[in-house]
Amino acid sequence: MLPNTIWLITNYNCNNRCSFCYAAKACEIAQKENEIMDYTYACDVLKEMRACGTQHCLLIGGEPTLYPEIIELVKFGTSIGLAMKLVSNGRRLSDSTFVDSLKNAGLVHSSVSIEASTAELNGLITNKAHSFEQSIKGIVNLQNAKISNNTVLTISALNAAEIVQVAELMHKNGVLNILYNFSLPSVANDGDAIGDAHSLFPKEYADLISEAYLKLKLKKIHISFFATLPLCLIEENIRSQMMLDKTINRGYHCHVFYGTGAAFEPNGNVLPCTHFVDAPLFNAKGVDGKFAYEGKFADEWENGIHKDFIEKTWCYPAEKCESCELWGYCTGGCPFLWMHYDPQQYIK
Ligand code: SF4
Ligand code: SF4
Repeated sequence: MLPNTIWLITNYNCNNRCSFCYAAKACEIAQKENEIMDYTYACDVLKEMRACGTQHCLLIGGEPTLYPEIIELVKFGTSIGLAMKLVSNGRRLSDSTFVDSLKNAGLVHSSVSIEASTAELNGLITNKAHSFEQSIKGIVNLQNAKISNNTVLTISALNAAEIVQVAELMHKNGVLNILYNFSLPSVANDGDAIGDAHSLFPKEYADLISEAYLKLKLKKIHISFFATLPLCLIEENIRSQMMLDKTINRGYHCHVFYGTGAAFEPNGNVLPCTHFVDAPLFNAKGVDGKFAYEGKFADEWENGIHKDFIEKTWCYPAEKCESCELWGYCTGGCPFLWMHYDPQQYIK
């Protein structure tokens, strides 16, 4: 399948320094080298992907609101029929004039990362003292501008006790879409103290979200998890309630298995998903620095290295998956988990 959604990594520089970040190394290097995506290159990628049938474009980083031509890029993507969205830490969205400009350019949605329920802990995790107030103001500005939005907390060892408190706070602030994902091992940070050091064991994540879900259900606060865990780690009775409530599996599958998403780095690398930082399938820049895949992306995706990649990806991480009715939704959890953990120990 061709990508229905793309992630355009406009720049890896960021105004936060989150301790768990899967792109921490790339952000460090970007800060020194200030590499950002060339605007003409970005537009060429959008045109080609639109021609391939892509409908959604998520601008991501680093922090995409630091991209100098973000307004022009949102406007351009919108003009060719893409639903332009942001994945942001929300800090620059604390400027309501900037948010209004994004809305006028056509922005349809923004996700805002919140890492804790207090300014102190959020500041510690993001390594920036005033990040919390600005992110919260960013959410308020999105709501005032009537731009669809969600918050997302990345659960790690640093904020595992914060799941319920963050949901209560966001609910109080009128956020309808309160999401969570999990700090996962990544390619770029593999074996390094950055990022992966804060990941929890898959079963710990499953227990944490089960407990938080039950507590928040009693308070009638709806939350959702990007269930990148083996679903069988969640106790069956709780899992079926979560599925009915759309707390997990809101039609989201790991797009890597289906090839329905692609990510583009500033240096031209094309990735299966944003977590494959600097581990590309191929590079789409020619020697002249221009996009070299005009009219050719679909063939590369369907018949080139991506085809081989997909064939390798579709494997069962554990025997039990072969006969599991959830296979295909679950795909055995995010494959990055199995870079660090033995699936036979978890999937029973
Ligand atoms: S597909 Fe595999 S990991 Fe997922 S729920 Fe089934 S047995 Fe567990
Ligand atoms: S491999 Fe799939 S589940 Fe894991 S981070 Fe990428 S998209 Fe998400």
